[in-house]
Amino acid sequence: MATTEWRNETSDMAVQQFDVAAAKLGLDPNLAVRLRRPDRAMVVSVPTRMDDGRVNVFTGYRVQHNDVLGPFKGGLRYHPSVSLGEVSALAMWMTWKCSLVGLPLGGAKGGIACDPAELSRNELQSMTRRYTAEILNFIGPEIDVPAPDMGTNEQIMAWIMDTYSQHKGHAVPEIVTGKPIAIGGTLGRREATGRGVVYTIIEAANHLGVDLTKCTAAIQGFGNVGSVVVKELNDIGVRIIGVADRTGGFYDANGLPIARLLEIASQTHSLEAFPFGQKITNAELLELKCDILVPAALEMQITQENAQRLQCRILAEGANGPTTPEADAILRDKDVFVIPDILANAGGVVVSYFEWVQDLQNFFWTEEEITRKLRDILVKAFHEVLQMSQKENVEMRLAALMIGIDRVARAMLWRGLYA
Ligand code: GLU
Repeated sequence: MATTEWRNETSDMAVQQFDVAAAKLGLDPNLAVRLRRPDRAMVVSVPTRMDDGRVNVFTGYRVQHNDVLGPFKGGLRYHPSVSLGEVSALAMWMTWKCSLVGLPLGGAKGGIACDPAELSRNELQSMTRRYTAEILNFIGPEIDVPAPDMGTNEQIMAWIMDTYSQHKGHAVPEIVTGKPIAIGGTLGRREATGRGVVYTIIEAANHLGVDLTKCTAAIQGFGNVGSVVVKELNDIGVRIIGVADRTGGFYDANGLPIARLLEIASQTHSLEAFPFGQKITNAELLELKCDILVPAALEMQITQENAQRLQCRILAEGANGPTTPEADAILRDKDVFVIPDILANAGGVVVSYFEWVQDLQNFFWTEEEITRKLRDILVKAFHEVLQMSQKENVEMRLAALMIGIDRVARAMLWRGLYA
C-alpha cells in the first residue's frame, strides 16, 4: 500500500490480514485496491473548555471504511492510544464483521485521543458534543451510526443523540446505538458483546468435544465485554481462574469468587482493590494454563514474543485485533482453536443493529426476543466459518475474513464503479 496518512502498525496488520484472505479468494485486484483503504477518513479538532477555564484541543477521528452493504456502523473509542491508523484498522474490521454476520451495514470507527478517566463529567460532555458537531454532516441514521467502544458508554451516546437532534430540530434516536433505554435504547445491548463471546465459546466447545463445566478460563479486560464474559462463563459452570484490567490482575487455580468480584468492580470500577487470589500482571494472565483465554482489552496483545507461551485450548477474541499475524502462525502450530474477533465479538454490533431497526420502526422488542435472535445469528455465523475453515483447510480467522470480504466484494461487483 502506498504511504498514506492512515497507515500505522495496526492498520498495516488489518491490511495484511485482508491481503491474505483476498489472495485465497482470488479477489479481483480492481476490488482489492479499493478495499485496502477507507472510503473516507476524517481528523477533526475538538476544542473543549476545561473546568479551570483553559481550552484544550483534542484530536477526534471518524474513519468510514466501506458502505456498500448499508450505512457505516461502528463504535467510538476514547483512549490515549487512539490514532488515525488504529481507527482505520478498526473501521476495516467492522466492515468484515457486519458482512460476516449478515447485517445490512458497512464499517466505520471513530475516536478521540484522550484519557476519559481524567476528564470531569462536564469536560466529557463538552468534548463529546463538539466532536459530534464537527462530524455532523457526515453521520446520520442512513449515513453512519456511531456506538460505544472502549472508554465510551450510554451517557456519551445520549449526548451525541441530543446534539444531533438539537441540530435537526427533532428527536433522532436512530443516530446512535448503545443509548439509554429511556431515549430509544434497546434491552440487552450492554450485555450483547460479552454474551456473544460466550455463545461462540459454547459452539467451539461442542465442536471440540470439550465439557465446559470442567473448563477453566482467564479473561483480560474487565470493561463492558470482559466483565460480562466473566459473569456468563461463571453462570454456565466454567471456573474463572484469572482476571485482569488495566491496573493488573488476579489468579487463583481453584477459581476466583466471581460474585464478590463483580460486586467490588461495580462499586470501584477497577480491580485494583480486589482482596482475593494472587496478584499477576496482564502479561502473566495471558500465559496462564487454562482451557479458555479471552483477551477483551486492546489490540496486539498476543504477539510473536508471547504466543509460544500461551497454554489455552480455545482463544476467544473479545477485543478487536488482539492477535498479530505472526502470533496466528504460532497458534496454528500449537493447535489453539481461535474464535476470531470479527466472529467472537460481533454480538455488540448485532444488537446495535436491532436497536437501529427498533428505532426506525418505533416498535420495541422484548429482551427474550433480542437474546434469541442474537444467539441464532452468532450460532449460524460460527458454523458458516467452521464449514469454510474445514472446506478450505484454513484457520478460523482466515475463513471468517474470506466470508466477510467475499460478500462485500460481490455487492461491489453488482454496484460497479461510479466514475
Ligand atoms: N464497538 C463495537 C465493536 O467493535 C460495537 C460497534 C457497534 O455496535 O456499532 O464491534
